[in-house]
Amino acid sequence: MKKNFNIYFCIIILLFISLLSGCSKKKEVVTDSAYMLGTHLNISIWTEDENKGKEVIKECFERISEIEKKMSANIKDSEVNQINNNEENRLIKVSTDTSNVLNKALEYAKISNGVFDPTIGKLVKLWGIGTENEKVPQRLEIDDALKYVNYKLLKKEENNAYKLDKEGMRIDLGGIAKGYAADEVYRILKNKGVEHAVINLGGNIYTLGTRQDGQIWKIGIQDPFEPTGTYMGIVQFSDKAIVTSGNYERFFVKNNKRYHHIIDPKTGYPSENGIISSTIIANHSMDADALSTSVYILGVKKGLALVEKIENVECIIVTKDHKVYLSSGMKGKLNIENDRFQIEN
Ligand code: ADP
Ligand code: MG
Repeated sequence: MKKNFNIYFCIIILLFISLLSGCSKKKEVVTDSAYMLGTHLNISIWTEDENKGKEVIKECFERISEIEKKMSANIKDSEVNQINNNEENRLIKVSTDTSNVLNKALEYAKISNGVFDPTIGKLVKLWGIGTENEKVPQRLEIDDALKYVNYKLLKKEENNAYKLDKEGMRIDLGGIAKGYAADEVYRILKNKGVEHAVINLGGNIYTLGTRQDGQIWKIGIQDPFEPTGTYMGIVQFSDKAIVTSGNYERFFVKNNKRYHHIIDPKTGYPSENGIISSTIIANHSMDADALSTSVYILGVKKGLALVEKIENVECIIVTKDHKVYLSSGMKGKLNIENDRFQIEN
């Protein structure tokens, strides 16, 4: 009996040890980078199978490339440019991908009262910020380009067919397409059973699951006055998209003045209303992307009011005078790392 007991005891211990080692088989980080959508992309996942991890990330980058080919304003025969270059006022049928993004863009154009405008293309081209043609245009050129910016003239018909009602108008999805790409990457990773991941598409961050130790992800919010990678504060979120629009991302300086890439469609000039960065936290990156651009242009008061109207969306706004404005659901959730910044109540 005693011997039997010992055998059983040993088996149980062995089972326990093998179970434990099975549980704690360490997941290693697999990470890869690429340059697409005009920006640096990085995806990190924690997995037990390095090769499979690499394959999954490769699949994500292929998906982003597909999205870029359809939606980039810089690729000659992208679907967006097929609509842009359509001279005969024909309807152009696009893929479900492009249609999803165009529809969302139009939704945010309405919600934001036209400050987010996917037909901003002619102005974006005129300023050329981030390209070798960047310049401060003449007032007359800006006034002329403004006549070609009006989302209400982007018409949608059945079967994903679109057209621009005025020749010379240009769609530019630079303020929203990266968000769609991040949502797609998140979806692919989830479908593949990935449990821990951080997606970073040029500052559009999306966290998946928890950290591998079960803790919630900590995300640094860029200090808009310092080089990339310096944080003004930390937030903790899992399964959330965190997107920042800032005047420090793409700009040039002329006569001591900074001209950046977020254009106010009412004036035709880079938006100037005291905001230096606006960060949106939402369940989907496409919403966060469109909203971060919108809030940047709307300014503190109207920006906060818009965010408060939408459920499950929060924001962090930093102004040029180092003040930080938070939406009601963000209160107490931003740990300021640098006391130059002051949270306003
Ligand atoms: P980033 O692309 O640097 O993350 P944003 O998401 O704020 O920054 O998007 C800025 C881009 O959006 C610009 O480069 C341009 O392509 C486009 N854009 C600029 N102004 C507007 C606007 N008023 N509405 C919609 N898109 C805009
Ligand atoms: Mg945006």
